[in-house]
Amino acid sequence: MNIERLTNSVRNIPDFPIKGIQFKDVTTLFKDAELLKELSDGLYEMYKEKGITKVVGIESRGFIMGPMMAERLNAGFVPIRKKGKLPAATYEVTYTKEYGYDTIQIHQDALNDTDVVLLHDDLLATGGTMNAAVDLIKKFNPQKIYLSFLIELLDLKGRELFDPEIEINTIIRYNN
Ligand code: AMP
Repeated sequence: MNIERLTNSVRNIPDFPIKGIQFKDVTTLFKDAELLKELSDGLYEMYKEKGITKVVGIESRGFIMGPMMAERLNAGFVPIRKKGKLPAATYEVTYTKEYGYDTIQIHQDALNDTDVVLLHDDLLATGGTMNAAVDLIKKFNPQKIYLSFLIELLDLKGRELFDPEIEINTIIRYNN
């Protein structure tokens, strides 16, 4: 993967959605056919030998590369959604974000203890969202959990929230 080209394709929007946030806009990466293919190939190479059975994507930007990875890895795709969106019985967790609070849910029949889970979101900031997602996934007692993000904001040290045995991959890294 040409990390520099991928990094340069992400658009920075200052003060969105609130003052002080440097918002990393990945739509400018996804709209470029060559870069999207490169990202998809790179992610596939990272995980093809891991025996992934389910890719779990976090609403909503985890729903872009998540299903793409699932299809390429011959795995199923499972959505984690904001409260009130999933129609069947759910588990839920409430957590704090870089800006605000949220509750996320997963269907109670989405996974089981034979699954090897790849949890995906676009960006690791404080890690609160993914940490809540890991708590949801642990309810199913899966074989193993891998974490994948396109972007990591290093200054926020989000990765320190996770158990050292959880493998975390990030592709594009910013200091702030
Ligand atoms: P956190 O829980 O703090 O790790 O925040 C991660 C979630 O919030 C991800 O779903 C991101 O899409 C979103 N997010 C947080 N900070 C940013 C940012 N600076 N730019 C874009 N998205 C962000």
